[in-house]
Amino acid sequence: MAHATSARTYGNYIGGEWRPAATGETFDDRNPANRAEVIATFAASGADEAEAAITAAAEAAAGWRRTSPIARANILYKASNILEARVGDVGRDLTREEGKTLKEGIGETGRAVQILRYFAGEAQQPTGEHYPSASITTLLYTMDEPLGVVGIITPWNFPIAIPAWKIAPALAFGNTVVLKPASQSPLSAFHFVEALIEAGLPAGVLNVVTGGGAAVGTRLVEDERVVGISFTGSSQVGAGLRQIAAARGAKIQLELGGKNPAIVLADADIDQALQHIVNGAMMSSGQKCTATSRAIVERSLSERFTDLLSSKIASLRVGDPLGSDTQIGPLIDDEAADRVAAEVKSAKDDGSDLLVGGGRLTDNGRGDGAFVAPALFAGVDPDSRLGQEELFGPVLGVIPVDSVDEAIAVANRVRYGLSASLFTRDLGKALHFVQGIQAGIVHVNSETAGAEPQVPFGGMKGSSSYSREQGKAARDFYTQIKTVYIDPPAS
Ligand code: NAP
Repeated sequence: MAHATSARTYGNYIGGEWRPAATGETFDDRNPANRAEVIATFAASGADEAEAAITAAAEAAAGWRRTSPIARANILYKASNILEARVGDVGRDLTREEGKTLKEGIGETGRAVQILRYFAGEAQQPTGEHYPSASITTLLYTMDEPLGVVGIITPWNFPIAIPAWKIAPALAFGNTVVLKPASQSPLSAFHFVEALIEAGLPAGVLNVVTGGGAAVGTRLVEDERVVGISFTGSSQVGAGLRQIAAARGAKIQLELGGKNPAIVLADADIDQALQHIVNGAMMSSGQKCTATSRAIVERSLSERFTDLLSSKIASLRVGDPLGSDTQIGPLIDDEAADRVAAEVKSAKDDGSDLLVGGGRLTDNGRGDGAFVAPALFAGVDPDSRLGQEELFGPVLGVIPVDSVDEAIAVANRVRYGLSASLFTRDLGKALHFVQGIQAGIVHVNSETAGAEPQVPFGGMKGSSSYSREQGKAARDFYTQIKTVYIDPPAS
């Protein structure tokens, strides 16, 4: 599984310059399918570099907010064309550093192109509203103004799409940015940033600092000059950042974990439900915040459906994600793979019925990487750890229920509320589900992980901070409203 490409070293990008970490130290970005392969090397920065980047972003803020939205749109549009011309190479690098299949890696890169174009368009939309006033001579209107400096902290699992869907609206609406990408897959974000640099983004408008989350990320959230923070990652880290931001009154947006249910009613199209649930649970090795981790199935169908799931999951081809017939790649690293395998073992030891998978795979060269066999549990207790906690791996549990109402109650009985699916032919039950389900993204007859960039994205309850990303909703986070009354002089 070795791929001979020499590893480039990337510095931080601060104020329009590439700079190494002050200590000169670096860290490696490794291929999770073949941990001996170093894809690229990055600056192991700390709080000092974060501060320098915030200073650069603060200095560039006045100029960028006075740049016409049309000029900002042109840069985003140009960057989309640059990235599109590289979609194959960038997608391949994404697969090499993150481990999702090449089809998914290229697909995600294409999504970043789409996002740049969408926000190039959004930048040209009206920037406020004109209102009637109690006084007929008063000109009364609102302006959407940029926040100023925005700190963006992203996870490793969508290493180009998530930086894209945060950076593109931040820039489109006139903010300057400091990005701290995840340490396990920073290269994809650098490819995205390079497209923007080549498209003519002025120095200081977008800065990137790599290094440990606790040092670099925390500094971004603590610094008074950073007005808004957009974070996607684990609920645990998000909870800590929320407290720091709240203490100084910063605007913060959190997109966190999920424990997403797919409900299958007895009248569902079985093949459709099967395909969408297996894809939703296992693609990207289950490492999506929107992955399906609970299949809640009407009891009359549950045994048959579980058998079908079991054989489909057992037949998934797990291996090198660059391989043309691979369906499932590795997890992000050995620690993640060991953690998921240990969770599966402990659920089994606690009496859960493991039908297939769950162990580390080491044959056929897979010992070089972080591979776990996709796992299926039957008859899961909805209140067990397996039924409640996000495992962030290729693990699906079937929960039998007696009615659509019980299914919705079970689906809602978790602290998360990101996405949910229902499979049925019954329109009445579909509408009942849409009304009752506590999730920010709701699907009928499609997988929990489906999401398009032109509509709001985000969760309810513990999955989010009541804010939304993408689509028109992005404007709400990256701007603030100024209300303007203009009256004629009295004489
Ligand atoms: P994570 O460990 O929380 O890391 C996310 C980002 O935060 C990384 O850049 C990380 O830096 C940084 N970080 C870590 N500790 C920090 C700290 N103390 N202060 C400031 N920043 C810190 O999450 P992850 O493992 O990368 O991602 C997986 C999680 O993300 C899952 O729970 C998944 O559900 C969630 N997720 C949610 C969505 C959504 O939209 N709702 C989308 C994708 C993923 P380092 O990499 O340097 O540690």
